This record gives sequence, structure tokens and C-alpha cells, in this order.
Amino acid sequence: METQSRVAEMRQKLRDSGHRITPQRLCILEALLAANSHPSAEEIHAQVRLFSPTTSLATVYKTLDTLRDIGEVMEMEVGDGRSHYDGVHPQFHPHAICTRCGKITDIELPGLTGLPDRAEEASGYEIHTHRVEFYGLCSACHQQKEVIE
Ligand SMILES: [Zn+2]
Ligand SMILES: [Zn+2]
Repeated sequence: METQSRVAEMRQKLRDSGHRITPQRLCILEALLAANSHPSAEEIHAQVRLFSPTTSLATVYKTLDTLRDIGEVMEMEVGDGRSHYDGVHPQFHPHAICTRCGKITDIELPGLTGLPDRAEEASGYEIHTHRVEFYGLCSACHQQKEVIE
């Protein structure tokens, strides 16, 4: 399964960069990847506590920071005041964000492939972070809106 192979990949990267794999960390990786899409640290924490009740939110944040630093998770802010995390696709990709229900969806836009590298080349900057987000209504919210109106 895709989730399990991502967990294995992340464990390997953590080990290669000198980090210990604790049972708590493993739980956090699994919650990060199992959550439907782009969970916040709080959502991951709630999930982890079902299996590991002593894990603190601080530990979740620390693990997510570590994963971000080794390039295994993409952190993003979408305007709800919380960071959200994508561990399934840690490389640059654009997102669509629903302004009504907060759903975050990965979008594939082949024209944007390699955009950070192209931006770096065009600007002469050393680019550290980047994001491309589209805001609107997801299809479920869009349909609801039509029913109400
Ligand atoms: Zn929605
Ligand atoms: Zn994503």
C-alpha cells in the first residue's frame, strides 16, 4: 500500500539523517499519512493519542519540523491560522482550497512542473519555499450552494 511505502521511505530518511525512530514518531508518521489529506498538527495529534495517549502536541510539532527540514513533508498555511502538512507529496505542487469547508486538494498542473527551479533561475534567488494555492468552493460545497440558492 502507498501509505506503508511512504512510512518506510520516511523512516529511512530519518535514519539516514541521524534521527531515532521511536514508537511515538512512527505513530505520528502513520497519522500524517493516513489522514485523508493535509492534516493540521492538532488533527495528527488527536489521531496519535488514540494509540499513544502520552504523546504531546509538542512532540508532534517537533517531528513535523524534523520531517520538513529533511524534505519529507510540505508545510503550508491556508488561511485558517494553522499549518497543514502533506507527507504524501512533499515536493512542490499546487493546491485548491475550499473557502467554505476548508478542504485541501492536490492539483496536477503539468505546466507548473519544476516551477521553483524556474523561479530560481529567473530571479537569481536561492528559493527556500514556495506555494501556489487556488481558493474557491469544492465540488460538494458548490453543489450545496446551488441547492440553497
Ligand atoms: Zn468545500
Ligand atoms: Zn498536497
